[in-house]
Amino acid sequence: MSHDHPYGKPVEVLKFTDTKQVVVDKAELEKMFDHQEVKNRKVVVFSIIGAFRRGKSFFLDYCLRFLYSHYPSINNPNNPLDNQQDWMGNGEEPLSGFTWRSGTKRDTTGIIMWSDVFLHTLELTGEKIAIIVMDTQGLFDNETSPAENSRIFALGTLISSIQVLNLSSIIQEDQLQYLQFATEFARFAAADSQGQAEKPFQNLLFLIRDWSNPDEFEFGTEGGDHYLKDVLKVKSDQKPELRSVRQFISSSFENINCCLLPYPGKTVARVKTYDGRWSKMDEEFKEELQKVIEHLLLPNNVILKKINSKDLKGSEMKEYIDSYFQLFQSDTLPQAQSIYESTIDKQMSILLEKCIDHYKHTIFLNNDLLTEENLYVIHEMSKNKTLIMFKEEKKMGNIEHERRFRILLDEQMEKLYIEWRDQKTITFEQIKEQKAKQQALYEEQ
Ligand code: GDP
Ligand code: MG
Repeated sequence: MSHDHPYGKPVEVLKFTDTKQVVVDKAELEKMFDHQEVKNRKVVVFSIIGAFRRGKSFFLDYCLRFLYSHYPSINNPNNPLDNQQDWMGNGEEPLSGFTWRSGTKRDTTGIIMWSDVFLHTLELTGEKIAIIVMDTQGLFDNETSPAENSRIFALGTLISSIQVLNLSSIIQEDQLQYLQFATEFARFAAADSQGQAEKPFQNLLFLIRDWSNPDEFEFGTEGGDHYLKDVLKVKSDQKPELRSVRQFISSSFENINCCLLPYPGKTVARVKTYDGRWSKMDEEFKEELQKVIEHLLLPNNVILKKINSKDLKGSEMKEYIDSYFQLFQSDTLPQAQSIYESTIDKQMSILLEKCIDHYKHTIFLNNDLLTEENLYVIHEMSKNKTLIMFKEEKKMGNIEHERRFRILLDEQMEKLYIEWRDQKTITFEQIKEQKAKQQALYEEQ
């Protein structure tokens, strides 16, 4: 769809070239953040991230519609709408803004900002703020490597004060693991500028599209928060990997919320010529879409960007963005690949521990007196069960990672077996001795 919008355009502030170089558009960044009206204002950076073709840009374009009706902007300094309740406007109006559904051609991977900036004065404090809108594209398609994905993801997290993580139908465990590792990457990059801030990042919203289970968790943010709680709950029978992910993301973001959106209807989801007008949306979708956008972007709800617990002004924000971009271009940051590897290692180690526990549990249950042969049979059985368990658990990484950790697991179990057997053997000897003594005593009597 075209993005001919009267007041702004999408600008690609950072992109990966075909040769995987990072290119930054400094001039455009300066235009936005050093603008007269922006440089001294505190900033809100609203960002969306997630796999391609999941309605991210479509969602942002409705956010833009909301923003233009509630706030003046650099390019539209006039007062916003009188009747703000009707910000969705005319139902037949085609959607414009960030490019969405751009055919079959692959998008470049990168970060895109809306060239226009929204301006507002907070009623309570009189503070002047500026709102910047950010889109990401080209993530998680077949051609983007995990290293590139994680860089973009990490940059989005570093720059934004409100990060929307757009997901389709459910929250999957591998997505949480991915989130953990991208966040870990971001924390690493933030360490210089932020010191060891307790929770370096601000708001994270899981936006679940095409939610199909409203009977269990109803649409909207309340149902979403219940669902999220359920997903992230530390349960006794829960996989330890998931527990560590939960703890990690909770310790990285000040607020984590979730919103469940209904299926938008066939026209939105499937019709090739659909132009984004809301008259073609399912009513329920339209209502929920409106609610969540208001929830995120009403003046009292927006979140100011903080670094080191300090609100940032436009010009300072530009400096940070510059330095983050530079960091990601240079070699000083460990390659995303190596962080990816270490995250896999960490997660595999947790899984290994869990498997070893399982193995120990089954062998130590068998405390009866046994011959060495029997011990061996029990060991073999437990070991095989544990290896199957290892194989069936969901993991990050590839076949080579799996092979490496499988060998480790095997070795550790063999070692445990030997220890166990030796202990048992000693016990046998002692028991035999004792029995012999008893026998001798008995015979003496
Ligand atoms: P992006 O790549 O994530 O930015 O996705 P786009 O915004 O370009 O949208 C991709 C396609 O998804 C478009 O055809 C939209 O009409 C459609 N779409 C938008 N929202 C939804 C939704 O909530 N569910 C479904 N199934 N499709 C949607
Ligand atoms: Mg898009």
